[in-house]
Amino acid sequence: MEKLLRNSFMFLSRNKMLTRLAKKYGLQFGASRFVAGDTIGLAIKVIKELNQKGLVVTLDHLGEFIEDEEEARKMADHCIKTIQSIGKCELQSQLSLKLTSMGLDISDNVVIENMSRILEEAQKHNVFVTIDMEDHSRCEKTLKIFKQLKKEYDHIGTVVQAYLYRTVYDIDELNEYKANLRLVKGAYKESPKVAFPEKAAVDENFKHIIKMHLLNGHFTAVATHDDKIIDYTKNLVKEYNIPKQQYEFQMLYGIRTEKQLELVKEGYQVRVYVPYGDDWYGYFMRRMAERPANVAFVAKGIFRK
Ligand SMILES: Cc1cc2nc3c(=O)[nH]c(=O)nc-3n(C[C@H](O)[C@H](O)[C@H](O)COP(=O)(O)OP(=O)(O)OC[C@H]3O[C@@H](n4cnc5c(N)ncnc54)[C@H](O)[C@@H]3O)c2cc1C
Repeated sequence: MEKLLRNSFMFLSRNKMLTRLAKKYGLQFGASRFVAGDTIGLAIKVIKELNQKGLVVTLDHLGEFIEDEEEARKMADHCIKTIQSIGKCELQSQLSLKLTSMGLDISDNVVIENMSRILEEAQKHNVFVTIDMEDHSRCEKTLKIFKQLKKEYDHIGTVVQAYLYRTVYDIDELNEYKANLRLVKGAYKESPKVAFPEKAAVDENFKHIIKMHLLNGHFTAVATHDDKIIDYTKNLVKEYNIPKQQYEFQMLYGIRTEKQLELVKEGYQVRVYVPYGDDWYGYFMRRMAERPANVAFVAKGIFRK
């Protein structure tokens, strides 16, 4: 039953018509638990509250299904405005973005042009930019563009996914680039041809890549809500005397809030991934797919309307 629900949410997350309707009608169905708001003003309010509690942030202006150059350029303009707001309000926040919203499915040149504009502005405001990782079909291209940009800009990082077989080799290659990486389990539905189908194997590989990247000496963001992985990381950094500046934990806005604060109290850096914007639908459906238990919460949201 759980698997069926997961598959249904993943299917719904890719529906373009529902994406358009969601934009038109605003945050619905309890999505505001996971999305800071549909405007930058609302997102800033949320970030200020998180910063006051000792949490740092990475802000994501949501955007999916970009189909032409003009739309991609507009998305890049939104990112630039977001960076300016972070700078102006002196927020403890980085920026996260997806290359498909910068034109990855259109052409490499469009992406590079948009990313260069964003990274120039980010440099001015001292804002670090992370390229999220999308589905497997875009992984190779994303890493290629990341490597190209990393040669020119230092304030850029990306993400690798523990469920992919290729990731151990990617970590090896990215060593040369001294890459700042966010490590995650992986959020998309992938074929067993490219990804471990069993959760236990994903968890083992997750631990393996955390150790690899930390011992390679590069910045490692362990992005998970899983206590077993968090405890594994805590023990590892203790055992190998890894300095606090070389790692942090990351979690999603609205998920395990108590745990985030508990880690801050223990002295760890915790970064909250805060999405905002009117293109909230696909992101929200992926969160539902990860944990169908959230449906109960969402159902309450629907029936209270
Ligand atoms: C900051 C951040 C950035 C991310 N960026 C990307 C990206 O760029 N690309 C990508 O593919 N994926 C990304 N992800 C998503 C990631 O790949 C996983 O899909 C997601 O984090 C769920 O995996 P998990 O490690 O939390 O463990 P899971 O195996 O999903 O959960 C493990 C345990 O965590 C606890 N838990 C999980 N969710 C909840 C909840 N809602 N409430 C209470 N307890 C819970 C439970 O105890 C659960 O058993 C990101 C995740 C984070 C946190």
